[in-house]
Amino acid sequence: MIKYGELSTKKGNINFFINTLYRNIQNKLKKFNTKIYKDISRMYIEFDDKDLDNILKKINTIFGIHEYVVAYKINTDIELIKKTILQILNNEDFDTFKVETKRSDKTFPIPSLEFSKQIGGLILKNIDHSKVDVHNPHLLINIEIRHEYTYIYLNHYKGLGGYPNGTLGHGMLMLSGGIDSPVSGYLALKRGMILDAVYFEAIPHTSIEARNKVIALTKKLVNYTNKIELHIIPFTDIQESIYKNIDPAYCITIMRRMMYRIMEKLAKMKKAQVIVNGESIGQVASQTLTSMNVINNVTNFPVIRPVACLDKLEIIDIAKKIDTYDISILPYEDCCTIFVPKHPIINPNLNDAVKFEESFDYNSLIDEAIKNRIVMDIKEEDEDNKFKDLL
Ligand code: ATP
Ligand code: MG
Repeated sequence: MIKYGELSTKKGNINFFINTLYRNIQNKLKKFNTKIYKDISRMYIEFDDKDLDNILKKINTIFGIHEYVVAYKINTDIELIKKTILQILNNEDFDTFKVETKRSDKTFPIPSLEFSKQIGGLILKNIDHSKVDVHNPHLLINIEIRHEYTYIYLNHYKGLGGYPNGTLGHGMLMLSGGIDSPVSGYLALKRGMILDAVYFEAIPHTSIEARNKVIALTKKLVNYTNKIELHIIPFTDIQESIYKNIDPAYCITIMRRMMYRIMEKLAKMKKAQVIVNGESIGQVASQTLTSMNVINNVTNFPVIRPVACLDKLEIIDIAKKIDTYDISILPYEDCCTIFVPKHPIINPNLNDAVKFEESFDYNSLIDEAIKNRIVMDIKEEDEDNKFKDLL
C-alpha cells in the first residue's frame, strides 16, 4: 500500500502525477503477476507472496513513492483477522506493541477502540513476554477494516521520495565517467525529469573502457527511469584543435565552452528544457564561479547543477547508495583528464577566451561531431544480459 506524500500537495494536477506514477509502477512491475489499484490518497499493489523481495527492490527505485507498507489483505471476518494477526506476529521479534484499528466500514459490529483492545488481549495471551506500550511501542499493528476486505500491516517503510519520472520535463545530462555527474543525473531524475545523456570522448586518447564505463553508469541510472538515450560525441578533432591553437592555461575553459555549445544544440534537437551536469562549486579550476561564468557564457540555455553546493563526501554518499561509485572510481581516463594543463586558469577572462576561439573554425567541427555521434538506447530490460561483459 503506497502513500504519495509530497504528491498530494500538487492540488491542480494531482491526477496527472498519480496517473504517471501508476504507469511507472505498472511498467517497473510488468514482469510480475500484479493487480494495481489507485485512488486519490493511496495506491494498492496486489502480488504473490513469493515475489515480495523482488517487488520491494523495484519499489525502492520508483520516484514519487514517499512511504509504503506491506499489508496483508484478508476478508473482513473477525476470526480470520485474529488468526492472521497471530500468524504474522509469530515471525516478528518484538516486546512492546500497540494495536491501532481504523474502521471505515461502520457496519462492522465492534467499534475501533474496542476491537484494538480485544486484539491486544489476544496478543498478550498468546505471545510470551509481549507488553502493551501505547506511547512508544516497538511494534505498531495497524488494522484497517473495510466492508469487504481488511488490511493488516506493521511497519512503514520510507520510499525514494521525489516526483514520478516524466512529470517534470526533459533534461540533457552531461555524463562523464566521474563520480559527480551520475549523482547529478539521479537527483534530476528524482525531481521527475526524464533524461538523455551525452558523453564526450576523444578516442584514441581515451579508451573504449572509458566509454564502457559511461554505458555501465547509464545502466545504473536507468534503474530509476524507463529509458535513457546515450549520445556519444566524437570530441577528438575539437580537442586536438584546441591543444594545437590555444594557450594551455585556457584549454579547459575553451573545451568546456565547446561542450556547452554542443549540449545546447543537442538539447534543442531533443526538445529538452535544461542541461544537467555534475559541476560542483570550487572542485576544480573550471568550477570556480568566474570559470563557470565564462564557460556558461556561450549559452542562454538553462543549466542545472544538482551537486553544485554539495561537499564531495556528500556526493560520494549518494554515489554509493545508487551503486555508481565503484564504477566511477575505475581508473580509465576521460577527455577532461588526459590533456589537463599544469596550470589551468582559475579566473579566466571572457574576452581572452573569445579571442582564443577565433583561431580555429570550431562551428564546422561542432556540426561534424554532432553528425557523427553514436546513439544508444539504454533500457532497463538489458540489465541481465546485454552489458554484462562490458567491465
Ligand atoms: P565527474 O566526477 O562527474 O567527472 P568532475 O568533478 O570530474 O565531475 P569535470 O571533469 O570538471 O568535473 O566536469 C564537470 C562536469 O562536466 C561533469 O560532472 C560532467 O557533467 C561534465 N563533463 C565533464 N567531462 C565530460 C565528458 N567527457 N562527457 C560528458 N560530460 C562531461
Ligand atoms: Mg570528470
